[in-house]
Amino acid sequence: MTAQATFEPAQGDTGTAALLEVENLHVEFRTRRGVVNAVNGIDYVLRERETLAILGESGSGKSVSAQAIMGIIDSPPGFVTQGAVRYRGDDLLTMPTSDRRRIRGEQIAMIFQDALSALNPVFSVGWQLAEMYRVHRGTSRREARKLAIELMDRVRIPSAAERVDSYPHEFSGGMRQRIMIAMAMALDPAILIADEPTTALDVTVQAQIMQLLADLQTESGLGLILITHDLGVVADVADRIAVMYAGKIVETANVHDVYGAPAHPYTKGLIASIPRADQKGSQLEPIRGAPPSLMRIPSGCSFHPRCNYARQRCTEDVPTLYEVDPSRSSACHYWQEVINDTGGSHGQ
Ligand code: SF4
Repeated sequence: MTAQATFEPAQGDTGTAALLEVENLHVEFRTRRGVVNAVNGIDYVLRERETLAILGESGSGKSVSAQAIMGIIDSPPGFVTQGAVRYRGDDLLTMPTSDRRRIRGEQIAMIFQDALSALNPVFSVGWQLAEMYRVHRGTSRREARKLAIELMDRVRIPSAAERVDSYPHEFSGGMRQRIMIAMAMALDPAILIADEPTTALDVTVQAQIMQLLADLQTESGLGLILITHDLGVVADVADRIAVMYAGKIVETANVHDVYGAPAHPYTKGLIASIPRADQKGSQLEPIRGAPPSLMRIPSGCSFHPRCNYARQRCTEDVPTLYEVDPSRSSACHYWQEVINDTGGSHGQ
């Protein structure tokens, strides 16, 4: 008999307080062609000094859920229809707009995949960084410029003092992403949400940016949410992982448990599709099929059309998150079979 996982309390066995609690969050987009059910009831907790990776294919709802937290969903067509997003216990979704803006501007920062379009091309990077201090803290022009150079140093941009007056297009993609990270860190946020921060970069620069984020997190103690489609990218930096599929979390676990023995067939498939240095020359196994349309999510378990473990029950019963152990849960009726199956990469 398997217990069903419940929403994690604010103070868990790690002993660190919850920074952010997302509870039963639902987001939909009302379009002319129908309702897109982008996020369908997700729960997670981010604690101080923790790195949580949210993993999933494109269209799984991982970025939309982050945008809902930040309050940057275009409405209409997007609507948060249910749920709570609590920052240090206060619900961002119901508090006065002015309080919400202040928390989202100063306490929760976000960086995006495309640094070039997020930076203003007509202002120098130093001006844009200094603007953060001038607008939010009323810092003098001279002091703000000094702080901008310090920030550039902090994110390891070489010769920061000489480059402070350069424009975004004068930097490489990796350096621009560092500048975005610097902007996000300017006000010392408690939470940083990084949405696919390395997707546009080559592998070496990806690793450097991930290391930078990990170092900044250690230095400042912030809670870091890393949103990615690439399990390989987060393996070395994440503490916990939440895997999303069709707008729901289908597995949560400590990152090493996920790699060791995934408890959901989708996670198993994602792991099997990562290139590994110790398996050079062997064939990668992509997950068959494609993610479902969020206007027509399959009945029962939404993963059943692609799942090699699926049986009749899976087409009818929606699996909730079952507790695998106190730090781990899986939305699969047959998680015991999945976890014990060491044969095929995803049950073939
Ligand atoms: Fe596969 Fe069924 Fe588990 Fe869904 S519930 S992941 S279809 S075995």
